[in-house]
Amino acid sequence: MAAPHTVLRVALPLPVPRLFDYLPPDAETGHALPPDGLVGCRVRVPFGPRELVGVVVATGGPAPDAPELRAALAWLDNAPLLRGELLASLRWLSRYTHAPLGEVLATALPAALRRGDPLPDTHGWAWRKLSPGTTPTRLREGGGPQRLVALLDGGSRDEEALDERLPGWRTAARALATRGLVERFAVAASQLAPDPRPGPMPNPAQQAAIDVVREAPGFTACLLDGVTGSGKTEVYLQAIAACLARGRQALVLVPEIGLTPQMLSRFRARLGVPVHALHSGLNDGERARVWTAAWRGEARVIVGTRSAVFVPLPSPGLLVVDEEHDGSYKQQDGIRYHARDLALVRGKALDVPVLVGSATPSLESLHNARAGRYVHLRLRQRAGNAVPPVVRVLDVRKRALDAGLSDQLLQGVRAALDAGGQVLVFKNRRGYAPVLLCHDCGWSAQCRRCGSPEQGRPMTVHGAGRRLQCHHCGARQPVPMACPDCASLALQPQGVGTERLEELLAERFADVPVLRIDRGSTRGRDALQRHFATLGDAPGILVGTQMLAKGHDLPNLTLVAVVGVDEGLFSADFRAGEKLSQLLVQVAGRAGRAERAGTVLLQTHHPGHPLLQTLIHGGYAAFADGELPQREAAGFPPFVHLAMLRAEARPAEAPLAFLRAARDCLASTLAADATATLAFDGPVPAPMARRAGMHRAQLALSAADRRTLHVALDRAMPSLHALPEARRVRWSLDVDPTDLY
Ligand code: ADP
Ligand code: ZN
Ligand code: ZN
Repeated sequence: MAAPHTVLRVALPLPVPRLFDYLPPDAETGHALPPDGLVGCRVRVPFGPRELVGVVVATGGPAPDAPELRAALAWLDNAPLLRGELLASLRWLSRYTHAPLGEVLATALPAALRRGDPLPDTHGWAWRKLSPGTTPTRLREGGGPQRLVALLDGGSRDEEALDERLPGWRTAARALATRGLVERFAVAASQLAPDPRPGPMPNPAQQAAIDVVREAPGFTACLLDGVTGSGKTEVYLQAIAACLARGRQALVLVPEIGLTPQMLSRFRARLGVPVHALHSGLNDGERARVWTAAWRGEARVIVGTRSAVFVPLPSPGLLVVDEEHDGSYKQQDGIRYHARDLALVRGKALDVPVLVGSATPSLESLHNARAGRYVHLRLRQRAGNAVPPVVRVLDVRKRALDAGLSDQLLQGVRAALDAGGQVLVFKNRRGYAPVLLCHDCGWSAQCRRCGSPEQGRPMTVHGAGRRLQCHHCGARQPVPMACPDCASLALQPQGVGTERLEELLAERFADVPVLRIDRGSTRGRDALQRHFATLGDAPGILVGTQMLAKGHDLPNLTLVAVVGVDEGLFSADFRAGEKLSQLLVQVAGRAGRAERAGTVLLQTHHPGHPLLQTLIHGGYAAFADGELPQREAAGFPPFVHLAMLRAEARPAEAPLAFLRAARDCLASTLAADATATLAFDGPVPAPMARRAGMHRAQLALSAADRRTLHVALDRAMPSLHALPEARRVRWSLDVDPTDLY
């Protein structure tokens, strides 16, 4: 029991790197202390005129000269929400990102709990018919309600099963419930599981990988480096099954786009326990429910996107990070954490194996594997009967192109369709055309709020040529009737985006469905699934951006046509080669994943480009073999450690002025330490020097060892916050930046 004079050290969600002291809420008025310890419990506290929700992260007696402390208003928990390993890992994250602990804890908690809501119930919901055996009259044959009644005739169904079996069932259920024909009832989460279905017999390479993970004595980092379709997911499933058999929880992280209903139902069907999904498509209540089910130890398998890395795991057994190279694991604002890296830190603290997998591992992970820090598990062949796709380069120099497509490519598409296959046309540019140009005077449509004041950024043409949109700030406007400079009517879209490709392909291949998949056409989590359902197994064409690059098993996809890789070949970003290689290999990997062999057509004006040649002849591994020594020679990650300070403001000079002052601060922190050197690159205007009217600049810091970088940042952060120049800008620190703009 805490002494009456206990002081609560509370982390509040405020951008200041300190804790705030409060006295416990008044016990006289019924606010009993939480019996299981105070650290990790939420409290509501007064803060100036406001009330905030914070987390107690330490307790102590008051310092002798402490001013009169205010008392917290109320306990929000009677058992710690954040305890043990999770709290320790979040403290680590706060140190590593140099962000206030209160903001880190607020990022880790689901929104409802952050606001102070009580822990929700964690049971599931199911539906049943009210008078079994009877068939209600006046239900339209084949309509939603009639199909739902038919399903429930076979017994009650939980909502997750309904999601899988009958898209749109909720409307039907509501209609039937109003008529008193069906009802919703609560069921314990553990009752929701189907019987586990056995998977295929693992091949020897898969078995070896499964054994390493299953027999790991404690924390072991494993890199599962397996070509697309090599059966990595099967390895995850078997390793998870072994973890469940020991009564432990498994956490599986998947990229934003990888978490499809298809993937979830594969997990549910195979594991025989409820699978809790945690992703951005859930509402606040649902997210808090999954988080709480994990906290209570009821959720045995949690599959989620980036922020799922924060779920509590009271009986941990295994952490899996699928497609570990994926960019969506890095949070690009607020607390800039990397979910894969945090998963490794947590696995170490929890002393359980961490399995990270990819067909195109990040160079960071490959470097760690080569240095012996990760066990390198390889799956070199596709599983089952599938064979690797054949890659053909189409040299389009001097050839006529129609909407950017060569005749050879169109013939290839025709042949694949005629053979009964499906085709994916990949183009990493959404919209109708990237530029709108006046053919008479050379004017082009630019966003006035982005780019430099002299040279704006081109606006993308959308809506079949009727709308302009800036992909940097979201600004929209109609296409002008005439050129604003010369009044000519000869305004022409230049270049090709996915919308224009869709238009051309629909015209050329009118006999098959043509579906466009990009952020414009595919909103909401089910949209993609609905697109695939429309296509079925019949011949058809998918046109799209990188949304198509992963996560979907389309057994009839036999041809992947890649157009417009050339833009990516000449980028200044040191990671451009890695990103382009990953994208190409992942897209190509969609072809021929089942019985039918696949082909990849790569249309380019640079058939001899070394990157393309390396990928075609040696695959991703050959690319990585060549790239790692180059990174080392050039002094780039993973051989040096980077951090990026960014600043933006309306006055053009303010960001650079702040960053210059910041550089001086940082340089002086290490001046006394002769062995530690910090290198600066900048400050310079950001590659995107202005966005939405804000001028932007950046300063890159690098050091050969991580410690030097963090020591310098630790020492300098308080001074940076206090700089007078800091008040004129919005600034942020990004440790291990993945994007350099
Ligand atoms: P990845 O995750 O590497 O892309 P998957 O695990 O999805 O690969 O496997 C690709 C396909 O191969 C799936 O249809 C899967 O059912 C099948 N498969 C995986 N392992 C085996 C195996 N050992 N024997 C037969 N088929 C397999
Ligand atoms: Zn003009
Ligand atoms: Zn803009």
